[in-house]
Amino acid sequence: MADPVFDQLLAALARTPLSFDEAAQLRQWLAGIDQGAQCLALIEEAARGWPCPRCGCARVHRCGQASGLQRFRCLGCRRSYNALTGTPLARLRKREHWLAYFQCVLDSLVVRAAAAKVGVHRTTSFRWRHRFVPAAARERPSVLGDIVEADETYLLESQKGSREMTRPARHRGGVAHRRGINGEHDCLLVARDRIGRALDFHTGRGPVTGPQLDACLGKVLAPGAMLFSDGAAMYRRFAALHGIAHAWVNASAGEHARGDIHIQNVNGWHARFKGWLVHFRGVASKYLIHYSGWWRVLEQNQMETPTALLVAAAQRS
Ligand SMILES: [Zn+2]
Repeated sequence: MADPVFDQLLAALARTPLSFDEAAQLRQWLAGIDQGAQCLALIEEAARGWPCPRCGCARVHRCGQASGLQRFRCLGCRRSYNALTGTPLARLRKREHWLAYFQCVLDSLVVRAAAAKVGVHRTTSFRWRHRFVPAAARERPSVLGDIVEADETYLLESQKGSREMTRPARHRGGVAHRRGINGEHDCLLVARDRIGRALDFHTGRGPVTGPQLDACLGKVLAPGAMLFSDGAAMYRRFAALHGIAHAWVNASAGEHARGDIHIQNVNGWHARFKGWLVHFRGVASKYLIHYSGWWRVLEQNQMETPTALLVAAAQRS
């Protein structure tokens, strides 16, 4: 490929004595190009054969490239699109850094550390986290089967990062004003089967209600599944309503297990999740489900590479 500009550049580079630092800079720059190209190739591959994102028409024409991605024109609605249109990653920039950023997600880095590692601004790091993480965490098991443990855990509601607080600030590092579970607590409901598949639901503030339990778990228990819970009445009502076999431990009376009947796996999930959350120094309630989804992805070990996370995040909604 004879490109005179490129030939001149290469000749100029060959004449230039590079210091160690300069050579390192050059390598980093080239790696960015490689990663950008790899990222684009993965995105194109993931979207191969998809119909038009707007009208579903499968009759499409190729029409040039934009920002490194193939553009298509739909013969049904006449509009054009690319592999990222209709995905959570549409219109985000600096794709050469995305794979490196997904590695930071796998490494559970905080916003600031990820920004420094990848070489983007903190606000970009923050935006990417809250776009990339929930996008990858959309991959959820559609059903849980066999034995399913369900239980809620509660976290003190947090308005971290909010400009306008709707209550006076807490002092002495986050202690509730009232005792017990109440409107100051966010409820995270987790159901987990014994082969390790888990589903997480942020049901809002205060104790979980029967209708919420219905909405979250009503459709995800496989036929023949058996539900284990604590003795809360709503689980019994839920199981009776849906005709699900149900057994429970009387935790308030100090009973933690009766043979195989226990919820220690799901409670272990809660404990590990809360332990992992500590290094983020408090998470805003509105992002709680992003963090629990992030933890679910890490814990499940299904997506162990930046590539796998990217491909999951680049799916259409
Ligand atoms: Zn169309």
